[in-house]
Amino acid sequence: PDAGAGLAEAEGNQQWKWKTRVKGIVPSDTAVYPAQDMCSRCGLCDTYYVAKVKDACAFIGDGMSRIDSLEEEVHGRQRDLSSPDEVTFGVHEHMAFAKLRPGVEGAQWTGIVTTIGVEMLRSGMVEAVVCVQSDPEDELKPKPCLAMTEEEVIAARGVKPSLSPNLDVLAEVEARGIKKLLFIGVGCQVQALRSVEKYLGLEKLYVVGTNCTDNGPREGLEKFLEVTSSNPDQVKHYEFMQDYRVHMMYKDGVTCEKVPYFCLPADQLTDVIATSCYSCFDYVNGLADVVVGYMGVPFEGPDVPMTKHFQYATVRNEKGREIWDLLRRTERLVEEPCTREGTRQDFVKQTLVTDDDVQMGSKKSSPLPLWIGNILADVLEKIGPKGLEFAAYSLDYHVLRNFLLMYRRLGKERTYQHMPAYAKKIVESEDYRDVVAKQIAKG
Ligand code: FAD
Ligand code: SF4
Ligand code: SF4
Repeated sequence: PDAGAGLAEAEGNQQWKWKTRVKGIVPSDTAVYPAQDMCSRCGLCDTYYVAKVKDACAFIGDGMSRIDSLEEEVHGRQRDLSSPDEVTFGVHEHMAFAKLRPGVEGAQWTGIVTTIGVEMLRSGMVEAVVCVQSDPEDELKPKPCLAMTEEEVIAARGVKPSLSPNLDVLAEVEARGIKKLLFIGVGCQVQALRSVEKYLGLEKLYVVGTNCTDNGPREGLEKFLEVTSSNPDQVKHYEFMQDYRVHMMYKDGVTCEKVPYFCLPADQLTDVIATSCYSCFDYVNGLADVVVGYMGVPFEGPDVPMTKHFQYATVRNEKGREIWDLLRRTERLVEEPCTREGTRQDFVKQTLVTDDDVQMGSKKSSPLPLWIGNILADVLEKIGPKGLEFAAYSLDYHVLRNFLLMYRRLGKERTYQHMPAYAKKIVESEDYRDVVAKQIAKG
């Protein structure tokens, strides 16, 4: 794991010279990255910033526990662990259900993220936007881009559902002399970015994050689609939705295939998710200025397409407010107060035990036939947690699942070294400590 450590030491006192001396790793199928199998291919090590990997990487040394102190640096305070909503969603001053009307054609949802990028460029708030277009030869493969025009930002709309080396454009940011930048990315990328922010020579950095969980390499996507979809070649993107179904949007932009979670062969899918994502405790992208996702919004029904559906936004700090005010000025933003319904804890425990037993191989997953899966999904949608409570269900479950997987792989000490305080608080909470202990005792 210390390929970058030698480089960092070599830096010595000569503040900036390392940028000319250090070479990034050349990406390839056989390249070994400092975080080894935990690497999320965030792109940092593909640049001379590999020199800073020991302090910046979300998966080396203190890893994601550094979010605790970075929150203080970025937002002026850590999340308030006595506030249940801050434990779950991170530091915030404002949360809302939001959508654009009209939306952006071809966007993942209503295109809030794309529109923020476009408006920030148009208003001069930033000179460039780091975003993710598609590889010209493979629509589903992410290709990070330093967008200097509105057209380039619009071309990046839509999620390319696999690990993306967004930070590999950092050297280009400096080479082009960019001073005001918007970075769009997921939690592990944002953590590394925040850690090297001081070396970038920027006057202003804005960060718009998306929620992110259970990501994986491009190759794994093929397997996921093959076992999940009846037309794997046609799928452009997919989401695990609040109606307990995976919605797979086809390339025609119209057809949406829906498969209940309970019909998926879970035991065939454990290697589709990257080890980094099984070790991730930053689903909510705690270090971004604004975060946009969908899982905190009640499902509006099968007749409302994702492109007209509410999303949810978390505005964390003053820069986030600047961004959100700019979006409001478009007069296309529809905002509603967040709602929640139900209680999540029993659902979390049930999902955790079922899933963890399959992960350990002590139980074979038994996918339900489609019609039974649909009935179950309908029932759960009626009686299960909704709105922010559904998001909290998903967040708690992922923290607990990842804790158990990491604990078995690396032991308690290493796992605790890596986990932020809020994640430890969830694992140790009265709600979950018994079920966690029970699963650990199983092996
Ligand atoms: P758009 O306007 O369509 O813009 C999408 C933006 O995503 C673009 O700016 C592009 O630069 C960026 N992007 C595309 N692919 C990638 C990539 N591979 N890595 C980083 N950035 C990328 N929300 C949830 O609530 N729960 C989840 O579990 C969840 N998982 C996600 C996983 C990934 C990898 C990503 C990128 C997003 C995820 N989201 C999740 C967020 C959600 O899918 C939408 O991105 C969000 O609601 C914004 O929708 P939009 O219409 O405003 O985005
Ligand atoms: Fe480098 Fe990023 Fe991989 Fe960490 S996750 S080793 S910073 S490329
Ligand atoms: Fe990075 Fe976590 Fe998303 Fe994986 S799940 S890509 S580690 S933010």
